[in-house]
Formats: sequence, structure tokens, C-alpha cells
Amino acid sequence: MKQSIQDFTREELSTLIKPAFRAKQVYSWLYHKYVNSFDDMKNLPASLKEELKEKYEIEPLKIVRKESSSDGSIKYLFELHDGHTVEAVLLLMKKEQYHEDGSLKHQAKYTVCISCQVGCKVGCSFCLTAKSGFLRDLSAGEIVEQIRMIKKDNSIDANRRLNIVYMGMGEPLDNLDAVVQSSKVFSDPDGMAIAAHRQTISTSGLSSKIAKLGAMELGVNLAISLHAVDDDLRERLMPINKAYNIKSIIDAVKAFPINDRKRVMFEYLVIKDVNDDISAAKKLLALLDGIKAKVNLIYFNPYGGTEFKRPEERDMIAFQEYLTKRGLHCTIRESKGLDISAACGQLRDNELEVK
Ligand code: SAH
Ligand code: SF4
Repeated sequence: MKQSIQDFTREELSTLIKPAFRAKQVYSWLYHKYVNSFDDMKNLPASLKEELKEKYEIEPLKIVRKESSSDGSIKYLFELHDGHTVEAVLLLMKKEQYHEDGSLKHQAKYTVCISCQVGCKVGCSFCLTAKSGFLRDLSAGEIVEQIRMIKKDNSIDANRRLNIVYMGMGEPLDNLDAVVQSSKVFSDPDGMAIAAHRQTISTSGLSSKIAKLGAMELGVNLAISLHAVDDDLRERLMPINKAYNIKSIIDAVKAFPINDRKRVMFEYLVIKDVNDDISAAKKLLALLDGIKAKVNLIYFNPYGGTEFKRPEERDMIAFQEYLTKRGLHCTIRESKGLDISAACGQLRDNELEVK
């Protein structure tokens, strides 16, 4: 199989393609004009087009399913070349607004949530992605392609700012090389120009890999899926806690290079009667003492066959208030696209049932 051209950073391409400035043109065709064939790269000489066709392929992902939510978010199910499927979601964070005279006040704000593996090895007990086990890693190009396809499908202008979260299917730090490569492709100013500080990598807490990622000094944001404040409960929810306990994660976070204006996000999936009481909030506050942290509370999103339940709104609010009153930044994640198989892995799960 030929290698996908989206696997390469522009620097790499400029060593592969002669003369080097052609790499910039290829990048522009791919990431500004979203073309799907080398033949459409009009300003390249015919000989180069032939060479590129011989050596590489563009291989766009196939949209097998698309669900739009009433809040403007769109969830995609993409098919990879080998028939496996992964999800990505375009989240509309803020609708565009106009002044009374009809002029634009501010543009819509988007965040795209992408997948990095087909399935996941980590096996968290609450997560639907984990149920199908682990099938394979995505290549850098397949990660890149999710954003390119979503921008193309929604005619999102090449230089529109958007944020990326690696919070779809899979564990990013278990596919570190491809994730880092994709991050570099995203941030290239001659490509999509999505700066590293607009990218957030979410991890279940592979401490040694957090250190490795930190040492690369990419400038990406870090999100930790914590979900529990003591090791016993965390082990039950996330078996990986046996290998990387809470202390090891906190130590790794403390050593992680954080942009001055940023905070490390701690995601806390709230499950009714499991981790939703104030004593947990109290422990969480103590645990994050001394860290530039923000907490994001997530409603557990139930699906068929799970033993866990969605928490009560009043408990979420009480949890949040406990933290914010004591000076810890804490938000409750808006459940975007609740009406469209929202949680991670759910669209794919529906599709597998249909088949
Ligand atoms: N593997 C990485 C990134 C993908 S999971 C990680 O775990 O951080 C992204 C987020 O989806 C995690 O915070 C996870 O807890 C959350 N998630 C998984 N199942 C969920 C469910 N049923 N309802 C709500 N959020 C869920
Ligand atoms: Fe994997 Fe994240 Fe799901 Fe855990 S929550 S099984 S780490 S995708």
C-alpha cells in the first residue's frame, strides 16, 4: 500500500519533493482547498503529479454516517480503508452573531473532537469505546484526515480558527507517535495553522507518556481523565490505575510544561452514587492543591447495558459550587448533541447494531 500524503509534516515533504517549495503548494491544496486528488493540484507540473500519484495517496475517509444535533453539533462516523470505523464530532461552541445592522458581530466557534485509535486498550468500565476492545492504532494521516474532512464537508474556511480535542475514541498517549505527528501537521502555518495551544490531548493518565509528551515541548494542552480521587475507586473504573496510580499522574502533571495563560484540565466523569458526593469534591480540592488546574465535570451519559447512571443536576451543581467557592476553576460540560448518540463510541455502537 502506498503511504498517505497526510502522514507527513511539511518539513518532511520538502525533503521528499523537489524543488522544496512544491511541498508548500501541496500543503495548500490539501489543507486550504481540500482537494482529494493530485490531478486537482493545478499549479504542479505534470511530472510531479505523476510522481506523487506513484508514491503516495490522498485516501479521504468515507463518511458512513452523519448525525446533526439541534444545538448545531454534527457527529461523523468515518470508515477507514480497511473497513474499520471511528467517530469525530464537530461541536458548535458558540453560534455566529450579528449586530442589529446585519453586520457580523462574531463568527461561530468550533471545536472538533477526534479519534486516535479504533477501540481502546485501557478498558475503562464506563466507556463504550472500551467494549469493542482494541482493534488498531490510527496513522497520523487518518487523524489529520478527520479534521480535513470535517472542514471540507462544512465548507469551513481554511483560515478559520478552531480548536481540536483528542477526546474521541482511543487513548492518545498509547499512540503517541502518530498523535504527535498529527499535532505537528495541524499546527503548520502553511497548512491548517491550528496552533498547538488550540489543541488538547486527553489521557487516562499514562504517567510515563505524560512525561515524554511534556519533554517534547509542543505547547499542546493537557487534559487528565481523573474521574476518581482514591485509588480503589479509580482502579474499579479505570483498570489502568493499577499501573499508573493517582500520585504518579499528579507528579507527572506537576512536571508538565504549561503555557502561562493555560491550566491543566482535569476531567471528572460524574456517575450517580459512585463519585458524586461532596466528600469526593473535598478530596479533589486537596489533590489539585498547588497545580494550575481547572476541573471539567462531565455527566455520565448512559447507554444500553451499562450499570452506571447519569447524576442528578443538583449534585453536579453542589459539586461544582464546592470547588468554585474555594477558588478552583470548575465548569460543567455542556452535553452537546445529547440528541445524537452523544458520548464517545455511541454512534459507532449504533451502527454496529444496525449492520
Ligand atoms: N482515552 C482518552 C480520550 C478519549 S475518552 C481519555 O480517556 O481521556 C474522552 C472522554 O470521554 C473521557 O474523559 C471519558 O471519561 C469520556 N467518556 C467515556 N465514556 C463516557 C460516557 N458514557 N459518558 C460521558 N463521558 C464519557
Ligand atoms: Fe479508552 Fe478513554 Fe474510553 Fe478509557 S475513557 S476506555 S481511556 S477511550
